[in-house]
Amino acid sequence: MRRIALLLLAVLVAGCTETTAVNQDTMDKDIQSAVEVVDDFWRQTFPEAFGEPYESPRVAGGYTGVDGPQCAGERSVPFNAYYCPTGDYIAWDEDLMAAGYSQIGDAWVYLIIAHEWAHAIQARLDTDQVSVAAELQADCLAGASLQGAAETGRIAIEPGDAQELAQTLAAVADEYPWTRVSDHGNIQERTSAFSLGVNRGVEACIS
Ligand SMILES: [Zn+2]
Repeated sequence: MRRIALLLLAVLVAGCTETTAVNQDTMDKDIQSAVEVVDDFWRQTFPEAFGEPYESPRVAGGYTGVDGPQCAGERSVPFNAYYCPTGDYIAWDEDLMAAGYSQIGDAWVYLIIAHEWAHAIQARLDTDQVSVAAELQADCLAGASLQGAAETGRIAIEPGDAQELAQTLAAVADEYPWTRVSDHGNIQERTSAFSLGVNRGVEACIS
């Protein structure tokens, strides 16, 4: 799985002849904004949708390479983003964020945060509510949360965002020691799972 994700990113980066420098401040603001709007969406939506109080996961934030927080004794993986169930936190490699942010756009960071947050939501659900296709369900919940944030005016959908989101779904797949290669689904499956959440909301993502 790591090889696939890295390969896709390498292709993506190599395909661009000019290196675009990332404005670190702007990216950090987008990451902060993504964390806030996704957390707010779930704070408003979760209790009604699932009949349970909502508690935010921790945000361990950015790391570099193998210097991220260990999850169940496993070191962080370079160019990855993940939700750690045992620690109930979300973390991401700063280089992963920067690569997509410069090559694809700001939708990249929103989708990665929303997808990892969706894994934290799955961890709060009953096991029979979590799809066997857990990664596609996370894409669906990510779509629902970003659409919800857009509908309340917390984020603005800009021209090109749909394209950026599709490129992001094609390029990244989070990785765990227990992830199987088939877990994330192909680009069509991921895009349609994301669209299902966008068009029909959280309930449609829960089987
Ligand atoms: Zn995932």
